[in-house]
Amino acid sequence: MKAKFVVSSDSPLNIRVSRSTARFETYRYIPGTTLLGAFAAAHRKIRNDTDEFTRFFLSGEVSFSNLYPANFRDDDFSNTDLQDDEQPIKPIPNTARSCKRFSGFRFKADSDKKERHGVMDSLIYWGLFAVSHQTKVEVLNANMKCTYPVEQAECCELLDTFSGFYRRGESITEIGKSEAKTRLLTRTGISRETGTVQEGILYNREVLNEGQQFWGTMSFADEVLFNDFHDFAVETGDKGLLRIGNNLTRGLGKLSILEDEFEELVPDDVMSLRQRVLAFNEKFHAQAKAYCVDLPHQLYFPITLESDTIICDTQLRYQTVLNGEYLHQSFNLADATLIYQSANKRRVIGWNALFGLPKAAEWAISMASVFLFGYDGDANDNFYESLYNIEQNGIGRRKLEGFGRVIVSDAFHWEVNEYESKDENS
Ligand SMILES: [Zn+2]
Repeated sequence: MKAKFVVSSDSPLNIRVSRSTARFETYRYIPGTTLLGAFAAAHRKIRNDTDEFTRFFLSGEVSFSNLYPANFRDDDFSNTDLQDDEQPIKPIPNTARSCKRFSGFRFKADSDKKERHGVMDSLIYWGLFAVSHQTKVEVLNANMKCTYPVEQAECCELLDTFSGFYRRGESITEIGKSEAKTRLLTRTGISRETGTVQEGILYNREVLNEGQQFWGTMSFADEVLFNDFHDFAVETGDKGLLRIGNNLTRGLGKLSILEDEFEELVPDDVMSLRQRVLAFNEKFHAQAKAYCVDLPHQLYFPITLESDTIICDTQLRYQTVLNGEYLHQSFNLADATLIYQSANKRRVIGWNALFGLPKAAEWAISMASVFLFGYDGDANDNFYESLYNIEQNGIGRRKLEGFGRVIVSDAFHWEVNEYESKDENS
């Protein structure tokens, strides 16, 4: 079973992106690895129970996920429609585009008194360009400028990449970006000899501000395990023992758990996945017809990474691409061909708090990467079961730490096009 999980930062958080002393940036979210480590450390402090420790952290029956910024409860954020924690926070896919000058979702732009010209997803256009063997340049040209109406004309600025995190409300017209707020803290070094300020040592740390919410999910093998972990998590939060990231001895890293928000989530079923797949495919075919692009495959579906994903080939070499061969080998899903990708890769580092040792660095395909597949097999029940399996179980290594979360035919790719409608700020 799956549960949503929301925490609030009670003090600034610093989760370093690099071990290099020259880097001072923090992650803009709470990685699942860090969350798992924090809970494991807290368990050692308050429960002297090896069996329970094994059940929670080593058995593979509890999986953690990244917690993404969910700042929709802030006083200065008028977007109250997006406060519902039933709705996930996700990385904005790599294929999102927004006006270069006034970027952002149009939703509530008026009430926020901000000029935001809208967001669209370019995956379908890039996909069509790819299947046309990169000959139909007009597909891209027709969708590269901001059409936001300004003074009886259009804005006409180029569309640029648009990244971060977002939440979609009940309806597609309700969609907003959620950004983690950060600041720089300047700290003095402490002399190891005297325990007082070390002269000449002054350093900066970027931190995530206190008072922010972070949203994620956790999965449990069964209800009993969920209830047991729930009790433990609440106790940890009540005792102020959930501490995360770096500089803990300097008062950073305190988290509290929003107990009311730690509850079961109803998962998507195969039917809703099937509807999404068909909806994307229909839009893809309709646009292909509109731009006179011949489609070599019957069905098209994208896989979008909701967290960094670590996959290796049979010889344990890190892969930076999710391709048809991998889907075939790992999920027995034959006849899928990768036709377009918008992907990045990232070095993943980590610290094993339990053993006090650094974790081996690995290569991951970055969250928000998108892979578009063409499918020529029979789109029968087995096909949809395979896709459902991919989505529910995730892909690749270290899934218990939140890696490898993916979504098939994410509605973002066919729903989000604020330039298509002529609506101004809704
Ligand atoms: Zn514009």
